[in-house]
Parts: sequence; C-alpha cells; structure tokens
Amino acid sequence: MPNPAATLATHCPYCALQCGMHVARGSGGVTILGNPRFPVNQGGLCVKGWSAAATLDHPDRLRTPLVRDGTGHLVPATWDEALSRIAREFTKVQQNHGRDAIGVFGGGSLTNEKAYLLGKFARVALRTSNIDYNGRFCMSSAAAAASRAFGLDRGLPFPLSDISRAGAILLVGSNVAETMPPVMRYFESQQSNGGKLFVVDPRRTPTAQWATRHLSLKPGSDAALANGLLHVLVRDRLIDEEYIGRRTENFDDALRVSASYWPERVEGITGVPEAAFTEVARALGAADHAMILTSRGPEQQAQGVNNTLAYINVALALGSVGKPFSGYGTLTGQGNGQGGREHGQKADQLPGYRHVDDPMAREQVAAIWGVSPSAIPGPGRPAVALIDSIGTDGGLRGLLVVGSNILVSAPNSVQVERRLKALDFLVVADFFLSETASLADVVLPSAQWAEEDGTMTNLEGRVILRRRAVDPPEGVRTDIDILCGLAALLGQRHQFAFHGPRDVFDELRQATSGAPADYAGITYERIEALDGVFWPCPSTDHPGTPRLFADGFPTPSGRARFHGVPHQSPADNPDAEFPLHLTTGRLLAHYQSGTQTHHVEELSQAAPEPLAEMHPATARLYGLSNGARVTLTTRRADAMFTLKLTPAIREDTIFVPFHWGGARSINRLTNDAVDRTSGMPELKVCAVRVSAVVEDTDA
Ligand code: SF4
Repeated sequence: MPNPAATLATHCPYCALQCGMHVARGSGGVTILGNPRFPVNQGGLCVKGWSAAATLDHPDRLRTPLVRDGTGHLVPATWDEALSRIAREFTKVQQNHGRDAIGVFGGGSLTNEKAYLLGKFARVALRTSNIDYNGRFCMSSAAAAASRAFGLDRGLPFPLSDISRAGAILLVGSNVAETMPPVMRYFESQQSNGGKLFVVDPRRTPTAQWATRHLSLKPGSDAALANGLLHVLVRDRLIDEEYIGRRTENFDDALRVSASYWPERVEGITGVPEAAFTEVARALGAADHAMILTSRGPEQQAQGVNNTLAYINVALALGSVGKPFSGYGTLTGQGNGQGGREHGQKADQLPGYRHVDDPMAREQVAAIWGVSPSAIPGPGRPAVALIDSIGTDGGLRGLLVVGSNILVSAPNSVQVERRLKALDFLVVADFFLSETASLADVVLPSAQWAEEDGTMTNLEGRVILRRRAVDPPEGVRTDIDILCGLAALLGQRHQFAFHGPRDVFDELRQATSGAPADYAGITYERIEALDGVFWPCPSTDHPGTPRLFADGFPTPSGRARFHGVPHQSPADNPDAEFPLHLTTGRLLAHYQSGTQTHHVEELSQAAPEPLAEMHPATARLYGLSNGARVTLTTRRADAMFTLKLTPAIREDTIFVPFHWGGARSINRLTNDAVDRTSGMPELKVCAVRVSAVVEDTDA
C-alpha cells in the first residue's frame, strides 16, 4: 500500500459528494486511498470511488481524434486535421444558416473551469445563443424553485454536517444509501442523536428501509403530498407564525391551495395512508430542527418546479429555512451539478448565476471577455428544445458535445437518435467512444479527472480542487486545450489565450465578482488550505459562506416567498392501454450514462444489465416470474428487460435504472414532456404496459 504522504490529495470523478481521496502512481498503476482528512467523507468511499483508477489506463480510452471518412467510418486523424475540419464545417454552417445554427452541449461533470470556458466559447468564439447542458435533466427544477422561493439556488444552503443534528428530516425521492453511501454517516449520527428520518419514495429502497417511516407515494403525486403535509401542519397549529410573518411573503396563497388538500383526498391521490403522513407532519412540526431534502424523484417531472416549491412551502411554514441544522436543500447528483449550473453553460445564464438578459450582467461579463455587450447572444433554447430543433426550420444543424452522452441521458431517446443523425455536423469530446460519440463526424479524445487540475463545487456549495495526479495518455488533450485551439481557428485566439485551468479559474473569479455565485475570493491555495471554500466568497480575506439565509433572503423584499401550487397529474398517466407507472433511477455500481463505469470490470460485474423491478403481486396478475424476459412499452417505444421481482416497490409501478444505452436504454421509453419553467423533462414518471417476451421456438 502506498504511503499516504507520497500521494496526491484529490477528489472522486463521480457524484456530487466529491469524496476526498489520495491517488498514487506506482509500478502497478494508479492506487486510490480514501482521504481521512477531508471532512465530507472522512476517508469513506463507495465502490465507484475505490475503483475509479480503472478508467485511466483502460485499453478502450480514445487516444487519437477520429473523423468520419467518405465511407462513413470513423478513422484516426491528426489533431490539426480534426480541429481544422470542425472549424471549417462550423463556419460553413453558420455562414449558410446563421450563428444559432451551431449549438453547444455541456455536462454537469465538467469542472468549473470547463463549464465557464464552454459558455464563453459558445458566446464569444461561435457567437451562438444555443448552449445548454445535461444538468437540465438533473438539477434544473430544484434550481428554478430555490431561485423563486429564496432568490438564490445553492443545492444545500448548509453543510452536510447539519444533517446530524436535525430532529426530523423528510427525504424525498432520494436513495442516498446506494447513490452516495458515505453520506449515510450523517443520517446514522442523526438517528443516534434521537432524530427521525422519513423517506418518500415509490420504492422501499435501502434508504427507505433504514428510515423511521417510509411513505410509498404514487409516482407523480408529490405536490399533493406536500400540500397535505402543510394542511395538517396548519390544522394542528404546528406552523411557525412568527417566522412566517417576519421572514416570508405570500403565505396566503400556499394556505389557500393547501386548504383543499384534506387528508382523505391526499391519501386518494398519493396512495400514502393518512395516518402515515399525519405522523410525519406532526414529527416535523414538533422537531426543534426540521429539515426537508428533495432529490430527483419530485424534481424530474413536468411539475418538477411546482413539486419542489410545494416542499419548500412546508419548510418555510415550519420556520426552518436559514436556521442551523434545519431548512430546505436539494441533493445534487452529478459530480459538478452545482458548479456546472453556475458558470454559463445554461441557455439563459452568464457566469456566477448572472442572467444573460440582464443589461448590467452583460456589461460586466463583456468587459472581462473583451467584447461589446451587444456581441453576447441572448437566451438560447434549453436542452430538450435544443435537441428538438434539429432538422427544423431555423433549428440546429451542427453541435459540439463536451462531457455528455445525450443519446443515453435524454428522454425519448429513439427520437433523440433520429435528431442527432439529422445534424449536418456533430462533434463529441469524450474519453471513451460513448453512444453519442459513435454518431459523431469528429470525435476528440479528452483528458479525465486525475489527468488535469480543476475545481468542482460539491452539493454543499463547497468549492474543491481536483489535482492532476498523472499525465493524460499520449495523443489526448484536455478540454481546455481543445476549446482554446478551436477558438484560435475560429479567429478568437486572443480571448482564449489560457495556459491551463488556473488561468481560466482566475478569469472565472473576475467574471463572478459581485455576482450571486461569487468566487472572487476563492483561490487554489485557499481551497487546499481550508478543505474547500463555500461560495459566495467575495474577497480573499472572506471566510466563505457555509450557511445561507441566516439574516435574510436575496429577494427584492428580503423575504422568502411561498407559492400556491396545486397538484397536477403527470403528462403521461396510466390508462387501460398503459396501466402501470414507469419510474427510473440510479444504481450503486454505475454513474449516469455509464460511459465510465461500464469500463470498470468490478462495476460491470456487479450490475451487468438493467433489471425491471416489479412487485410479485403485479407479476402474478400478468403470469410473470422472476428472471422472465419482458417487453416494456410506452407511448413512445418499447424495449426488453429481465424481470426482478421485489416486494420493495409499489404494485402499480415498475422501476428500471437508466445507466445503459442502445436497446437496453430505458430512456427510449421515457417522456420528453418538460416543466414549463425549468425545461426539466419528465424522466421520473410515465405510463407503461408489460408483456412477456414470446420466445422464437423456430430459432
Ligand atoms: Fe465518488 Fe460519490 Fe462514491 Fe463518494 S459517494 S466515492 S463521490 S461516487
């Protein structure tokens, strides 16, 4: 085992916990150790973190650019050939069809530096308004809801350690025991301190099994449940009237809506027994420190913003937001799901959470970028609309994808594949040949997590530093090198004269100075010295801000805002033809579209294929048994899966994990209806029918 003193402290390449780890390079390759000094995980890692080194030296790594030749095959090319071809094709498309005919698609796993540079590249080098990213499928509903209610979106406005001291926690639509196991230490200590944990989920997940009580709600009924909780809190006089009067506004709207969510009605809509959610409401109301945490369950719906606002209403009514060990937070999923949504790769946003249509923000950012404010394009299309525009009049004709595997992560992916194939020119930068990369006209091999420096912002708003522990394989370039090289070929060398991530970060600090997500006072040195720095941090002598909203909310009135949000049914509800709910989610062994984790043998063996989970009682109705091959059909497509029977799921619901592409992709079946405010697609719920696969006996 390597000596920890001889290793480099860095962070895991996967989820938003960004666990601290040590990486050592020895004769046997790269070794990973947990970092016991990093406060978030204190040495603990999950199986993905322990095995992360396997992706670095993997024989499937892309090591040379690939270009599609005249016969339609991807063949090796030099960097000069690949980049010149991209510049030539993008220029041609823009000359013929306008600037917005080229789009850029980023990812929530990119470092802050890359997210920032990608936004600048789109607006300055390509001068297109069309940039968005896969965080649209992940965090956009919670982000929009928090901005509306609190005036600012930071996933957790408090450190994770606050969980340990919360008296009662409502955890909605999150299976943290499997998706980020090291975080369970906080819930464990909360329970040993006498706290109660209530989990809302259509499945009795390992997290739900561990809870004080599990509320097994019908998919798509979150706003009804949250309104029901508020109804009981008001009825039983458990709301904090003093806090509501002093620190909030618009309570009457929430009160009026929740008045019609009497318990019997809520039980009918959600399937959660009245006694169960009444117990939860009373426990939250009685707790000294009440906390509500949401995750993708309520958020990845066409009602995602309203669902989240309805849970925020409960947290505000309890008077918990802005108090220690209490409040509302959302558990970010992707590695840089937080920082990735702050620095300008969203269609409507400039660095630091500035709005692209705010004249002052445009002026400030334009000054840093050395362009005129009028040269910065306005808001572009959000992800689903961006993809949908391909092949339409005035739509996208060329696309650059960096750090995202759209073909697996986007909903209704049969349609997405058609769209991507209709592009005049597709470029993908990645480290493996992902499903999306395999459709590209040019593929660029890029460096991975331990091969370059860069900052990430974890789910607490803590900015951490990933370090370059090893060199990238020969022939591979960092995304920063790629973007600067391409910008130079597009005639913008001067604005992209960066000598690496630290240079980019220094510009990001300037560009966010004075903005809501202010990174001006954060330096690589301070991050290392302080185990991360929480934004906002406006100057180098500012300690950072672990807790937000203690003294007020950054809204025009300084108060948090309630919203009256009635329940609305999912866009695609079960009926006689499609009688069950389909919901999707993650597994312990895989990360997102699986581009990395399917290349780790240990992880592939642990979860080699997506299994469709179904309740045994439902299986009996259909004459199905465990291990049977079934076809799942929705209004969009069908796909075959192996059945896993488990009593840990509602009888009206089927669950399938989303980490696989091709014929095994559950996103072939999911619905691309979107939330009108956030653009979030309804990945978490649609109607489905199940049938046994009829074996071909002639075969
Ligand atoms: Fe990595 Fe997340 Fe696992 Fe921690 S919990 S080791 S950050 S995947």
